[in-house]
Amino acid sequence: MNRFVAFKPFVCGPPQRNAFLAIRHWMAEGIVAEGRAMEEARRELVDHLRRSGYVETDLVAAAMLAVPRELFVPPHNRPASYADHPLDIGHGQTISAPHMVAIMVEAMAPREGLRVLEVGGGSGYHAAVIAEAIGPRGQVWSVERIEPLATAARRNLEAAGYAERVTVLVGDGSCGWPEHAPYDRISVACAAPAVPDPMRAELADGGSLLIPVGGPYVQELLRVTRSGDRFDVEDLGGCVFVPLRGRCGHI
Ligand code: SAH
Repeated sequence: MNRFVAFKPFVCGPPQRNAFLAIRHWMAEGIVAEGRAMEEARRELVDHLRRSGYVETDLVAAAMLAVPRELFVPPHNRPASYADHPLDIGHGQTISAPHMVAIMVEAMAPREGLRVLEVGGGSGYHAAVIAEAIGPRGQVWSVERIEPLATAARRNLEAAGYAERVTVLVGDGSCGWPEHAPYDRISVACAAPAVPDPMRAELADGGSLLIPVGGPYVQELLRVTRSGDRFDVEDLGGCVFVPLRGRCGHI
């Protein structure tokens, strides 16, 4: 429709410049169209997660709608950004399936202003969804042991606009990260052989820890809630995560 209007200024320029401008215009149109398709795919995915009961609250739905997953997926996997399964992010690791992120963010009962530790930062996507759900007054510290993944996560978070709210730390987070404790929530995105004691100790009173516990192939997602010196454990169901490596994890 407005193609004619868009091309009008090119008609009287030198031919190379016209060709250059035309290509730039088509590319820009392509990027906008791809962006729109991604947005549409994101909306469909969140609708599906809602219908399936993984997303239960408006808060988590809004957070997942706000975070562009395609910015956290390596280019070769980008077309699959909104498929509901884990995707390879290199170094033998994966970005968790969207339904798993939905389950975990719902289970952490996010609210404005929480202080959250994430162990297993991977691509940074899960941390961005948490950051979105706890708002600009909240703070996320996300620990990743594989340096190049941490570097990529920082870049992804920057591109998606979460660099201020998520601090990516590099190192072994298997026993937690005492420096910024106590945390209102701890979310572990890799599988531990047992709940690490130091992690419990880093929880604020009334805070909770989500952690997959079990063998290397199948685990149970546990929620440990602290009330003073008491720690209540709930089993939220079966799950499959890559192993938590390190001092308090699998060797
Ligand atoms: N939440 C991520 C996916 C996590 S995959 C996302 O949204 O993309 C699990 C990650 O845990 C992997 O990147 C792995 O390198 C990391 N990991 C394993 N053991 C760890 C440890 N001890 N400390 C920090 N990260 C660890």
